[in-house]
Amino acid sequence: GVFTHQFANESFNGQVNINTGLFIDGQWVDGSGGSTIDVLNPTNGELLAKVSEGTAEDVNLAVAAAQRAFDTTWGHNTPGSVRGILLNKLADKMESQYDALCAVEALDNGLTFQWAKNADVPASIATIRYYGGWADKFHGKTIETDKNKLAYTIHEPIGVVGQIIPWNFPLLMLCWKIGPALATGNAIVMKPSEFTPLSALMMAEMIHQVGFPAGAFNLVVGYGSTVGQTISEHPLIEKVAFTGSTVTGRKIMEAAAKSNLKNVTLELGGKSPNIIFNDADIDQAVNWAAHGVYWNHGQCCCAGSRIFVQSKIYQEFLEKFTKKVKSIKVGDPFGKDTNQGPQVSQLQFDRIMSYIESGKEQGANIHLGGGRVGDKGYYVEPTIFTGTKPEMKIVQEEIFGPVAVVIKFEDEDDVVRQANDTLYGLAAAVFSKDIDRALQTVNKLKAGTVWVNCINVLNHNVPFGGFKQSGIGRELGEYALSNYTNVKAVHVNI
Ligand code: NAD
Repeated sequence: GVFTHQFANESFNGQVNINTGLFIDGQWVDGSGGSTIDVLNPTNGELLAKVSEGTAEDVNLAVAAAQRAFDTTWGHNTPGSVRGILLNKLADKMESQYDALCAVEALDNGLTFQWAKNADVPASIATIRYYGGWADKFHGKTIETDKNKLAYTIHEPIGVVGQIIPWNFPLLMLCWKIGPALATGNAIVMKPSEFTPLSALMMAEMIHQVGFPAGAFNLVVGYGSTVGQTISEHPLIEKVAFTGSTVTGRKIMEAAAKSNLKNVTLELGGKSPNIIFNDADIDQAVNWAAHGVYWNHGQCCCAGSRIFVQSKIYQEFLEKFTKKVKSIKVGDPFGKDTNQGPQVSQLQFDRIMSYIESGKEQGANIHLGGGRVGDKGYYVEPTIFTGTKPEMKIVQEEIFGPVAVVIKFEDEDDVVRQANDTLYGLAAAVFSKDIDRALQTVNKLKAGTVWVNCINVLNHNVPFGGFKQSGIGRELGEYALSNYTNVKAVHVNI
């Protein structure tokens, strides 16, 4: 089928036509089970589109197609330079549909059109272009050993890789995954989130149109418990790359271990600390702190959701931060001045509300917000908790919504201890004008990314990933290429 939508709003006017099938072996097909998934509109909970639901059988078909492509037309059979050209053509194609991509992201996920336009979509395109550049540059080394011997390494693609992505940045997560995998010549079986499949469907068509060989990229929309699980335990998939919750990450690793011990990379949750010292530029820290936690409605794995403020500036910070957060405009994702749209789903809305309830029950103080906005859709008020205790759920667990906890601290040792008191280690931020203090704190924080005097800054050429239970492996930059290659060492006796 085809999903047709006519946009007519202050940000975008135009029509999109999106194929709603599965994309397997270079063709659009219906799911073998014949059923569909309802995709709902997060602004009102109404039905937006029906898309094909993939099954385990469809994963098998996609894996077979990927393996065929890898053995015949893709992988070793397409030189890196050609793979690079294809990725660049894909980036061009995305640029030609720039506003449509922004609009579909806003429609499906609820993120604001303006953010999609200024951040998500350009970052997605830059990621594809960046890896297009790498496609013929990630080669092995010659290594000196003995006089009569030659040793060298080859970076080979792994083969058929499974990729499972979440709903929080549907397009960007897809590009972070396919960029390095296609650049290095792997064949992909991709599962987008069942909540937000529309931009992935657009991408499949674009990949098709720019001339990637059939089977190099396959898209199987479906549920985690069926399609996701089948990918994780498939004996012919040699690697699975996942972004999503730590609970699911654990299941995927278990399935991988029990099947063929496939290579696993995981990008999981976080509960990132944002530390603001007495000597920080307070106004700067306030603006960044708000961006840190409320960006994308808090649906960001690296959200700086625990804000630690040193005692001397705590009051001033809290007053200015509250004023800033009150100015966040919640509403229609297509509104030109909207800062925050709806959460992605009823499920997420309910989860966030239950965390807010638990904060109240456990005795924290609701300093701001805490309720819903409007009477339909999944809108949540930007919320600030104070007066928390370290063991409270709202301090320990990832809420994935617009909810901050602001915590007063006394000295550096105290804040480092509290900041690291979490299962997670995805990211952290430090605000201070004293470079010694800032960098000493950086060294003590257990996190895969640490920002100094900024937060949630991501670049396609800088690695991103977690310490501790926030994940395994790194996305982006040169580092991600190693996730998708096997190193073959060759010894030659001369
Ligand atoms: P999730 O981990 O359940 O879903 C992510 C992806 O995994 C989806 O495509 C889903 O279909 C798939 N999946 C689910 N179960 C699976 C299984 N058994 N095997 C294989 N794949 C499976 O995340 P969610 O339920 O959508 O969100 C729950 C929480 O996850 C959020 O509240 C948040 O804490 C966290 N989350 C983190 C990120 C991140 O970027 N780190 C992204 C989304 C969600």
